[in-house]
Amino acid sequence: MSEKSLSERRKEALFLQKKNGRLLASEETLASADAFCEDYKRFLDAAKTEREAVKTALKQAEKAGFSAFDPAKSYKPGERYYVNNRGKAVAFVTVGQAPVEEGVCITAAHIDSPRLDLKPNPLYEDLELALFKTHYYGGIKKYQWTAIPLALHGVFAKKDGTVVEVSIGEAEDEPCFVVNDLLPHLAAEQSKRKLGDGIRGEELNVLVGSHPFKDDAGSELVKLQILELLYEKYGVTEADFLSAELECVPAFHARDIGLDRSMIGSYGQDDRVCAYCALRAALEVKNPPKTVITILADKEEVGSDGNTGLNSAFLQHLVEDLAAMQNTTAGRVLRASVCLSADVNAGMDPTFPEVMEKRNAALLNYGAVITKYTGARGKSDTSDASAEYVGAVRKMLDEAGIAWQVGELGKVDIGGGGTVAKYIADLGVDVVDLGVPVLSMHAPFETTAKFDVFMTYRTMCVFGERPPFVR
Ligand code: MN
Ligand code: MN
Repeated sequence: MSEKSLSERRKEALFLQKKNGRLLASEETLASADAFCEDYKRFLDAAKTEREAVKTALKQAEKAGFSAFDPAKSYKPGERYYVNNRGKAVAFVTVGQAPVEEGVCITAAHIDSPRLDLKPNPLYEDLELALFKTHYYGGIKKYQWTAIPLALHGVFAKKDGTVVEVSIGEAEDEPCFVVNDLLPHLAAEQSKRKLGDGIRGEELNVLVGSHPFKDDAGSELVKLQILELLYEKYGVTEADFLSAELECVPAFHARDIGLDRSMIGSYGQDDRVCAYCALRAALEVKNPPKTVITILADKEEVGSDGNTGLNSAFLQHLVEDLAAMQNTTAGRVLRASVCLSADVNAGMDPTFPEVMEKRNAALLNYGAVITKYTGARGKSDTSDASAEYVGAVRKMLDEAGIAWQVGELGKVDIGGGGTVAKYIADLGVDVVDLGVPVLSMHAPFETTAKFDVFMTYRTMCVFGERPPFVR
């Protein structure tokens, strides 16, 4: 056996060690990751929209002892409640041993994903085919949404006050829908368009029918037949589309990827991967030292605006209620609090390495990725986490034996993006982004690594159990 040279020993002591997490992990950890991801895949299939994610999360939370917030009640340490924000966002609270004035631990993930929303007047007939007009939601590469099976999810809110839920296209025996694309034979002109323009917004029309209503005369008989079917199934008329939220999402299910089954492919992993990890941790962390707040937010993909997004007063009001119970103010609580903005980052793709700066890019299987700042250009539009807070998070992760890495969202000046972090930082909270690296982010079928998913879940648990307070 050869002795290590001096430089080797000094390198070991001084260099930052980076290693593939699957190489270092025990068989037991990898088996736990696989088992966790079986549950995660079921969640992905059950929660294809923000509304379905809230519903699924509430069902699990009620089983774990959470009940709806009662403003008349003063909650004691260990007690748990939830605040359901219009069925599209939700917060789970487990009251901690310490007074909230000493700070709370907030984990925030988002449960909305890019998709095709139906327009208010979606249904039309052309060339004896019935179609839906759509308006895309979030940042998509439009050409990716053609010629794949789509399902329709959402609600009609009728004038009588009833809300009818819609979900068509998930089960194998149900029909699905499709945005058709031009055949290559006739696409010579289309092929000259720039990629971003390959399919245009007004070309994202969803095919929904071709069978005409049986009558000798009359026009728009295919459209009529579709309305007949919708009336039969849901009791709705064309006017009910005006007060509906209907979303076309990819109809395929979450699957293992790779001969080694080490990865997961699915729609909506940004950011339901972090949302699921955060939810599981919220259910499992009981009697935490500090109060734990887990938020599953809506509207992140469109800038967090609106009353179900985190650029609203939702979190502030939630903390005001908590503060009132303990005779303090939300300001005092928030200033002392810490947050993980749990969102995905881009993993480095061997096919497209040129957009990443490899020394500061996240790799699959290297664990949860900390993103100190997001934004664009000269760090605009982001909250840059403080060295002190990142230091505390780093200590927490290392002490818990969690594999983690850092990642920037691409090379300087090549693009950028944002998360909910800055809206929570605005409230005076210490915030850093942490989540799972993803390939093909925002595509109809995104890829993550099971090991990274599991490390992110473990992070969320430890965050509640041994929170990283700077002060
Ligand atoms: Mn995201
Ligand atoms: Mn996103």
